[in-house]
Amino acid sequence: MMNIKEMLYSRNLKATPQRLAILNEIIRAGHIDLDTIYKNISKSFPSMSLATVYKNIHTLKEHGIIKELAISGAKNKYEIAEQKPHHHLICKVCGDVIDIEVDTSFLNQQLKELKDFEVSNCDIYCYGVCSKCRNKSDS
Ligand SMILES: [Zn+2]
Ligand SMILES: [Zn+2]
Repeated sequence: MMNIKEMLYSRNLKATPQRLAILNEIIRAGHIDLDTIYKNISKSFPSMSLATVYKNIHTLKEHGIIKELAISGAKNKYEIAEQKPHHHLICKVCGDVIDIEVDTSFLNQQLKELKDFEVSNCDIYCYGVCSKCRNKSDS
């Protein structure tokens, strides 16, 4: 279990109820877009505007607590930044984002040989159809 308050305090950020609610949504979902976060937490904070949620998300991103995933053809999603390095599989049918740990050392070595390029970090997004959606269309 991640200590959300510690995450905020270690970056000198106040643990406001809004920030805690946003981070809880992100942890619960794994990957989630701004509109869904807003929809889910507006039940607990009916007076909070989308702009306030956006502002908080921006702050959390600026301080490296969350990471933004730029998914082509869909809304950007957010995830907790401090995780084991991983890449993403994106289902074009249901929109699911699946974490995957793959070893990119072979790719990095190829880039070094082909372009004399030294990779410091690498985010892979693979687009396709997840097993749930494939099994559905098979039947
Ligand atoms: Zn799917
Ligand atoms: Zn992820």
